[in-house]
Amino acid sequence: MTDCIFCRIAAGEIPAKVVEENDDLVAFHDLSPQAPVHVLIIPKQHLAGANDIGEGEAPLIGRIWARIPRIAEALGVRDTGYRVVTNCGAPAGQSVFHLHFHLLAGRAMGWPPG
Ligand code: 5GP
Ligand code: ZN
Repeated sequence: MTDCIFCRIAAGEIPAKVVEENDDLVAFHDLSPQAPVHVLIIPKQHLAGANDIGEGEAPLIGRIWARIPRIAEALGVRDTGYRVVTNCGAPAGQSVFHLHFHLLAGRAMGWPPG
């Protein structure tokens, strides 16, 4: 989708500080970090959010999740704790409507989240 900022990042049209990229995903540092480590993991395929995940997307989502501990390792936070969050819908805090997982680390995390 040409009007989707994360599709444009996935296509290399908008620069980002990329941590990892493969056929399925791009992981890159958030522009406005909410923790010392704040990386976004997105599928290259445009899905608007978690509600677009169905049985057909299960293999893709599984492969993305299988990379998350490796991405955490590359960031040096695998064993020191991290949080993975996806906001689904504006009331939950979603502002970019291309599925993404926030990987947050490097500080104590409160619970419940706000
Ligand atoms: P959401 O609010 O949808 O859960 O998360 C969207 C995230 O994308 C926010 O944390 C925001 O800072 C980040 N973001 C928005 N635009 C850009 C951008 O152009 N580049 C990068 N690296 N992050 C972005
Ligand atoms: Zn998109």
